[in-house]
Amino acid sequence: MESKKLNIITNVLSAKKLKITHQRIVVYQAVMETNKHPSAEQVFERIKDNNPSISLATVYKTLETFVENELINKVSSPGGTMRYDAKRKHHNHIYITNTNEILDYEDEELSKILMNYLNKKKFSNLNITDIKLQIKGEKVNPSKGISIT
Ligand SMILES: [Zn+2]
Repeated sequence: MESKKLNIITNVLSAKKLKITHQRIVVYQAVMETNKHPSAEQVFERIKDNNPSISLATVYKTLETFVENELINKVSSPGGTMRYDAKRKHHNHIYITNTNEILDYEDEELSKILMNYLNKKKFSNLNITDIKLQIKGEKVNPSKGISIT
């Protein structure tokens, strides 16, 4: 691993007062380097060849430690499998049900519109702090990407 990347990861872990271990570095890197919202199994598949000593159970445990320490987010997918997201910036998700993909969707304008709308409603005893949209859809052509204009 490049030393710059390694530095970033060790800084992230020590900022949360987590012990820096080889398995934590490898698992964090695997989640950080993809925007595909991998499941624990997919993280395991990514790292197992280069790290035969790390088991699937360890990957699970390590991911959960990261979630508890707010380093990554848990995302539940339409199929019910837990997926993980290293992107901490606020964003929405588009679930593609026929390809099982989870895509990031950032739209500040939409967030503002929703927040303004909800702020006009009179919720009693509720202070809204966050709104996240879950958009579900099917790809018309599953082998192509989607574009938003
Ligand atoms: Zn995401």
